Amino acid sequence: MRANWMSRNCVICDQDEFSDLGYTEYHLATQGGTFDLTSRNVSCNHCGFVSAKEVPDEDFLARYYTYHTSWYFDASPPPYNLKKRLKLIQMETTSALALF
Ligand SMILES: [Zn+2]
Repeated sequence: MRANWMSRNCVICDQDEFSDLGYTEYHLATQGGTFDLTSRNVSCNHCGFVSAKEVPDEDFLARYYTYHTSWYFDASPPPYNLKKRLKLIQMETTSALALF
């Protein structure tokens, strides 16, 4: 899914003159598919604030957050293997106790 972008003025001084700093592409995996974003990074010519020139529209954000997971950008579930977690805690605890 691609975003529809809305242009905006500087969020600090509300001016509309910028210098381009380049683009950043994001490919965000969600449970509803991959969301592709290309952010135009700019610096405000008036105050120097660095930001994204355009932001995704409300429709895109609503779709994205419907499928967004809290586990970073990976759509797979977090590793909840209890035995593995307990073993890691035991290893960390043992190594920490060895310091005293
Ligand atoms: Zn500004």
